[in-house]
Amino acid sequence: MKEIKSIAALASRFGTLPGVGRKTALRYAYAVIDMSEQDVDAFCAALREVKSSVKLCAECGNFTDDEVCELCKTRHGKQICVVAYPKDVIAIEKTGAFDGKYHVLHGTLSPMNNRTPDDLNIKSLLGRLNGIDEVIIATNPDVEGEATAVYLARLIKPLGVKVTRIAQGISMGSELEYADAVTLSQALGRRTAL
Ligand SMILES: [Zn+2]
Repeated sequence: MKEIKSIAALASRFGTLPGVGRKTALRYAYAVIDMSEQDVDAFCAALREVKSSVKLCAECGNFTDDEVCELCKTRHGKQICVVAYPKDVIAIEKTGAFDGKYHVLHGTLSPMNNRTPDDLNIKSLLGRLNGIDEVIIATNPDVEGEATAVYLARLIKPLGVKVTRIAQGISMGSELEYADAVTLSQALGRRTAL
């Protein structure tokens, strides 16, 4: 059977989403055909809305629909926890073990993928260190996460701010967002100086 162009086009769009393979993408496309006109409109509007309203917090770089995010407005501690992605903030918030501020890098250093310090949200971190006692690096315990931690420690320590790394309670190569809350809060509690 000849494929229907519009279905194939929509499936290939769904296929660009993380974790969606060819089969699932096609199932999603068929699901859209079954939707009411209203639901399709709402779906499109939600896509547009998220794209137009969500931006990066001017202070920490986390996603927000305001100029400055809720966490930056309400946290006044002397610790900044540095993470690679907004989803890592959610993972750490779930543990309830941290009540300081965050800083989101939007990636990790990766020579393989040509990601250099200039590609990450690092400069604004240096501007936030006034009154801060400790910067906790909570990047994933993989090669890129480690390289990023070492780079940041070299940058920040000379400024007289303590830099620590969360303990390797989460196994090498695993991701922060998949670590359970207990493991992650233990890793936060048992951190080591860099
Ligand atoms: Zn913020």
